[in-house]
Amino acid sequence: MTREDYERRMTRAGHAAADAGLAGVIVTPGPDLAWLCGYEQTTGERLTALVIAPGARPRMLVPALERGDIERAPGAGAVDLTGWTDGADPYAAMAELLAGDGRYGISDSAWAMHVLGFQRTLPGTSYAALTEALPMLRAVKDAHEVERLAAAGAAADAVYEEILKVPFSGRREREVAADLDRLLREHGHSQVDFTIVGSGPNGANPHHEAGDRVIEEGDMVVLDFGGLKDGYGSDTSRTVHVGEPTPEERKVHDIVREAQQAAFEAVRPGVACQEIDRVARKVINSAGYGEYFIHRTGHGIGVTTHEPPYMVEGEHLPLVPGMCFSIEPGIYLPGRFGVRIEDIVTCTETGGRRLNNTAHGMGIVS
Ligand code: ZN
Ligand code: ZN
Ligand code: ZN
Repeated sequence: MTREDYERRMTRAGHAAADAGLAGVIVTPGPDLAWLCGYEQTTGERLTALVIAPGARPRMLVPALERGDIERAPGAGAVDLTGWTDGADPYAAMAELLAGDGRYGISDSAWAMHVLGFQRTLPGTSYAALTEALPMLRAVKDAHEVERLAAAGAAADAVYEEILKVPFSGRREREVAADLDRLLREHGHSQVDFTIVGSGPNGANPHHEAGDRVIEEGDMVVLDFGGLKDGYGSDTSRTVHVGEPTPEERKVHDIVREAQQAAFEAVRPGVACQEIDRVARKVINSAGYGEYFIHRTGHGIGVTTHEPPYMVEGEHLPLVPGMCFSIEPGIYLPGRFGVRIEDIVTCTETGGRRLNNTAHGMGIVS
């Protein structure tokens, strides 16, 4: 990513803001700032804010002590920096950078303390969450981004192939989770966001991470893992079984697999996000397990592992070529077991393309 790449993104953000009738976009540290100008820093109480107004050169308010770090960011050369020093009022300084009164899109993760500061200092301004105001800005990936996501997906796939070979029976969930963590890093991930190992009844809790339960022969085990590789996310789930599954375990797994496939086949430009959820849900409902599919079907992915748009009832946003998101239906039988199958998929002109390509059949582990 060069300075020009970041400059193009900032220009695009300015045009999108103008089209949406916004006075501009305010971006605070987090994934938006990393995406727009390559500046990755952990958020802090000192105000850092990039302001992109239509037709104007981007400007950034920066704490004086962080100025050197920001100047080294690849996109910083395309931004005019204004420093502020401890003891000064950053909100008064911010007022100088804004185009004036009006409505601004602001990073979803901006601290409430800062937004309240803007409102106090600039009572003529109002604010909208960036993903609501400009839902397509980060959601639609360019070809370069799709290939980064595909590379992260391929790395996660290699991890899955290797985890099938490690022993499950007799080991604790957290030991298998540690294997997943190590393998993700071996396959180029710089950050591991989650390594879910939900064995037996723990698999029925979609939020179960990994605990001290000892995995036994006969367990279904939900594996869901991902993180960031070269700045882009991976996220895949497969459900494996220790030894031979029962006919019921096979049946439930087959239903989830069919739901995942049907939702994948529904992907094409113009289809609303909620339709992807509906298609997956219809398969599970028809099989009689509707009450056990207790979460949305998917989420966007990009420079973070979970982001809008969501594949959920009520999300009318149409799929656009370049959008990348998960399709991850599941069935969770309380106290017994769970099944989830998840691939990252990108929408192309002609339909869906999977960025995870390991077999959907139930993996048998020992
Ligand atoms: Zn079993
Ligand atoms: Zn996942
Ligand atoms: Zn996911």
